[in-house]
Formats: sequence, C-alpha cells, structure tokens
Amino acid sequence: MKKRLLLIGGGHAHMVTLANIHNIVAKGFAVTVIQPSEYHYYSGMGPGMLGGTYQPEEIRFATRRQVEAKGGSFILGKAYRIDPHKRLVILAETEEEIPFDVLSCNAGSYVPRNTMSGDFPNVFTPKPIETLLLAKKKILDLAEAGRITIAVIGSGPSAIEIAGNIHQLCRRRGIIMPVIQLFGGRNFMSGRPPRVRQLVRKVLLGKGIEILEVGHVQRIDNDRVCLENGKEYRADIIFAAVGVKPSQIFARSGLPIGPDGGLQVNEYLQSIRYSYIFGGGDCIHFAEQPLDKVGVYAVRQNPVLYHNLLACLEGRPLEKFSPGGRYLLIYNLGDGDGVLGKWSFAFAGQLAFSIKDWIDRRFIKTFISN
Ligand SMILES: Cc1cc2nc3c(=O)[nH]c(=O)nc-3n(C[C@H](O)[C@H](O)[C@H](O)COP(=O)(O)OP(=O)(O)OC[C@H]3O[C@@H](n4cnc5c(N)ncnc54)[C@H](O)[C@@H]3O)c2cc1C
Repeated sequence: MKKRLLLIGGGHAHMVTLANIHNIVAKGFAVTVIQPSEYHYYSGMGPGMLGGTYQPEEIRFATRRQVEAKGGSFILGKAYRIDPHKRLVILAETEEEIPFDVLSCNAGSYVPRNTMSGDFPNVFTPKPIETLLLAKKKILDLAEAGRITIAVIGSGPSAIEIAGNIHQLCRRRGIIMPVIQLFGGRNFMSGRPPRVRQLVRKVLLGKGIEILEVGHVQRIDNDRVCLENGKEYRADIIFAAVGVKPSQIFARSGLPIGPDGGLQVNEYLQSIRYSYIFGGGDCIHFAEQPLDKVGVYAVRQNPVLYHNLLACLEGRPLEKFSPGGRYLLIYNLGDGDGVLGKWSFAFAGQLAFSIKDWIDRRFIKTFISN
C-alpha cells in the first residue's frame, strides 16, 4: 500500500507542500488535505478586504482545486482529534477516521471567546478571515440607518488594521462615518517599537478614530464593552481582536504542547514525541525559541516543512528550521496609509502601504499560479 501523507489545514506554512503535491504523488505517495473551507484566506490582506481594497477572490487560495488538480485528495471537514498511536485523524461532527503514515498540522489559531457572553449577534473576531466579510455587510447595513458606534478591542496588528479599514470602507461608500473606538488597554500598542506606536497613533487619530487607554477590557456582555475599572461602553458592532491561541486539536489529543496549547515541535518542526507528526504556522510551539504569531514565520517554515515531510516518507535525513532575524512590519491602516517598521527605523505614508500591497500580491500570485 502507498504511504499516506495527511495535511491538516492548507495554511500559510503548507503553501510549498501544496504546490508540490504532484511531485510527492509522482514519488508514489498518497496526499490528502483536510480543511473546513475549499479556500484558504491570506490573513495579511484580510483587513484590506474589509476596507474594500481587495475582493475575496483576490486574497484566497483555491485549496481544493489545487489539491485535486495535482493528484491529491481533499476532505471538506475539520480535524477534531489526532490518535498518534493508531495514526488517525478524527473529523469533527462525522467522527470519520482518516489514516496517515506522516501527518503535518497547519491548522492555525483562533480568537478565544471566553470573555464574551450573551447572544448579541454583532460581535466579530478577525479570525477566520472570512468573518470579516460578514462584518463588512453588517457595517454597511447598520450604517445606512444613521451614525453607529463600532468598538475595536485590542491594540495588536489586526485591531489597528481593522479600525483603519472600517474608516476606509465607510469613506469609500460615502456612508455616515461611524464612531470608531479602539480599546487599547492601558498602553496602546505596548511592546511595539516607540516610533511605530507613535506613527500608528498619529495616522489613526488623523482619521478621527478614538484610542481609549483607560484600562483592559474584562468582558464583552452583549452590546457592552466592560472594562476592568467598571466602566461600560455600548456599541452597535464589536470587533474582538484580543489575540489568538493555537488550534485546540493538540491539547484535545494529548500530544505534547507548549504553554499556549500549540503542538510542541523541535528544530525539525517535528513533534517532540512522535517523529511522524510535523507542524508549522500559528498552531505550533517552537520549543527552541517561541515565535510570534505572524504569517512571516509560517511562510519561512515552508521549504523546511516540505523537505522534512518528503524526507520522513522516504526515510532521509531531516533539515533544521531557523526562524531567521527580525521581520519587517507593515501595517495597512486604510485609505492608502501604511506604517512600516524594522528595528528602530519606521515611516508612515502611502509608500509604506504600497510596499505591503506589492509584497502581499506577489505572495498570492506565486502560490495561486502554481
Ligand atoms: C486580521 C489579521 C491580519 C494579519 N496581518 C498579518 C500581516 O500583515 N503579516 C503577518 O505576518 N501576519 C499577519 N497576521 C498574522 C497571521 O494571520 C498568522 O500568523 C497566520 O495566519 C498564520 O498562518 P497559519 O497558516 O498558521 O494559520 P491560518 O492562516 O489560520 O490558517 C490555518 C488554516 O487551517 C484551516 N483549519 C483551521 N482549523 C482546522 C481544522 N480543525 N482542521 C483542518 N483545517 C483547519 C483553516 O481553515 C486555515 O485554512 C494577521 C492576522 C490577522 C487576524
């Protein structure tokens, strides 16, 4: 029987492997990909889709089409659990068991909802990226009737990009500009380089976006944003961009995990206990050096992951992954405004956005044309 390679998620770290499915199949292996959607969305362009710079078709990879065209099999479903001893992945809902010889996990991360209560339907999270399409429709529907208030909770990249792109969306559509309130904890963008923080603040304030630094948000109770100091703010739409956690599959499966629940992998991107299980992107905990949850690392892992999956199938030596140096940060703050930063160097303006747009479009083109 053919040896089977199974991929959970066609995320950013699996791009090179997906592009090479035909090569893996040509070597006599069977390849199967499990994903809850036929498409994988490129998160770096998600806020731009919200703002209307990009159409959904421009920022997504047709995973199913690519896998099947290259001779692999695609399963529309969600991996729920891994049985590492029987080498099975169990799907959510159907409980179907999918066997593997070598497994690679790129199931990404999610925004925890444990601080949200009530049944208010207008609370959105930045992930999955597709959610931003629903949020966009909701903004346009509600804003037609008058001035609405939108709360964006968080002061990480997704929060600031979402706030800026809500502004762009409303400006472009000519609708009454909502009150946009960004809840930035006690210290907006803390932990980021001072110059970058200063530039982002200036750009957002220039759009009339309010930045509140009056305390951390303790919970979202229906349409209310409740702060640790007891203050409450009502909103028509709430974006909870409160940070992400790795997929829960690994904790659920009893695999060795890091402190945040990510699959603990060694320098070969290989589970520290099961030599035939690998992973990349937001869903892993890289034991050597914990990595930020940014697409940059997932992208850098691609060639090593592809090499190691094939090497594991063929019994050849594995390659080490090195995370590399500091990465370039570019934020898309809407209306063509960007902020670019690396080390202590930073600048804001249309050029910063144009660089990001060029990098993102090139990435998409590389893997879509494969
Ligand atoms: C709004 C926003 C903007 C961002 N902008 C940037 C940026 O500009 N630059 C940057 O470097 N980083 C950015 N990030 C961070 C970046 O999104 C993540 O680090 C990146 O998405 C990680 O890639 P991934 O492939 O690991 O995960 P994901 O992109 O989440 O992909 C995971 C894939 O796995 C699938 N999947 C999920 N669960 C399962 C399951 N149970 N079974 C099977 N398949 C599953 C999903 O459908 C998805 O296709 C941004 C994040 C957000 C939310």
